[in-house]
Amino acid sequence: MQMLSPRQVHLDFHTSEWIEGVGAQFDAETFARMAKEAAVSSMTVFARCHHGWLYYDSWRFPERVHPHLANRNLLVEQVRALHAQGIKAPVYITVQWDYYTANRHPEWLIRKPDGAHEGGPFSEPGFYQSLCVNTGYWKFLQEQTLEVMELLGDELDGLFFDIVGIRPCTCAACRTEMGRTGASRRFSHRAPAWYSPLRRRGGVPRWRVRPSRASRRRALREARGRDRLSSTRARTFSQR
Ligand SMILES: [Zn+2]
Repeated sequence: MQMLSPRQVHLDFHTSEWIEGVGAQFDAETFARMAKEAAVSSMTVFARCHHGWLYYDSWRFPERVHPHLANRNLLVEQVRALHAQGIKAPVYITVQWDYYTANRHPEWLIRKPDGAHEGGPFSEPGFYQSLCVNTGYWKFLQEQTLEVMELLGDELDGLFFDIVGIRPCTCAACRTEMGRTGASRRFSHRAPAWYSPLRRRGGVPRWRVRPSRASRRRALREARGRDRLSSTRARTFSQR
């Protein structure tokens, strides 16, 4: 069994396209030596950030390489230098926050029941317009991940997928799937009254096949019978 590294560092690196000279002064040897002196045993290095930029010389998505990436080999150099010091270097890939993708593929955004997207408006700074992986975005994520695997081959220690959440979504793709599978569209970001005790029992995703009237009654009975607290909470939740 592989043990977890005792001292792990997560290099959280999200760099706007307005920042120039990215990696221009990067010295792989100094970088890895400092990590070694700090007794770091594993450091997550970055392939794609929340701005949607890549930090390696991508051949599948050259348009997504950070426009000011001075060192096109930044990711590979980081991995190799860390390995030379006996430090693991798993690779970070953002999933649901990617500003580049969100701007160019509005059809891939998570949609609320009223059609609005999650996060702030595009007119403001930030990258919190969440993407739905039930869309064509999935294919891109798969291909970009494969590219990182091809880039590093046996040198890849692992993948760190960030921002991966089960979230309600009524984008076109999710609506189609709900129609096909018979799942209820009657959900909202605030869970409906029938849902609360079920949610407490199983921690199930918020959108799911709606249970029958009988099973909802049974779940409520069980929740109320189990302890008073759960039924109180169920009511409180439904009154919000
Ligand atoms: Zn969706």
